[in-house]
Amino acid sequence: MMSFEVTHRDPGSQARVGRLKTAHGEEEMFQVVEWVVPFLPEEKPRHLLGIGEPDDLVEGVARGMDLFDCAFPTRLARHGMLLARRMPRFRMDVIKSVHARDFGPVDPDCSCPTCQRYTRAYLHHLFKAGELTGIRLATLHNLAWILQLLEEIRRSIQEGRFSEWKLKFLG
Ligand SMILES: [Zn+2]
Repeated sequence: MMSFEVTHRDPGSQARVGRLKTAHGEEEMFQVVEWVVPFLPEEKPRHLLGIGEPDDLVEGVARGMDLFDCAFPTRLARHGMLLARRMPRFRMDVIKSVHARDFGPVDPDCSCPTCQRYTRAYLHHLFKAGELTGIRLATLHNLAWILQLLEEIRRSIQEGRFSEWKLKFLG
């Protein structure tokens, strides 16, 4: 089952594409995005609703989308999952016991306060102890990580090297 919706509820602001639910995963979803993009007005930002995974953001930008919104980074954080480069699917489960004595930052490339001040071991302890501070620090990191990713994407586009950057990022 696949459905999609192009909305123009507010003709002055943006063109929104949403309700892209498929039984066949991201590949089919992005095929639909490719079909829809030529029909969107050039002069408006293009908003892809409900997409928030790092690789999906990159693929969405590659197909001409400008804006995204999704509960993914905060939902992930509530479950002790932290976004990080060099990790499978760009995430780590800080609750796993392997992080109990892991004294590095969540992501050494991230400039957020969580990564600058706290270790994976401390976050592991907070989640194991049920301390809400763990969720706050994880949420702060995941939101900052996504914003840093989008800044990096924007910079690569401005410098005319997005395709090269995308290949490197997605590995
Ligand atoms: Zn961080």
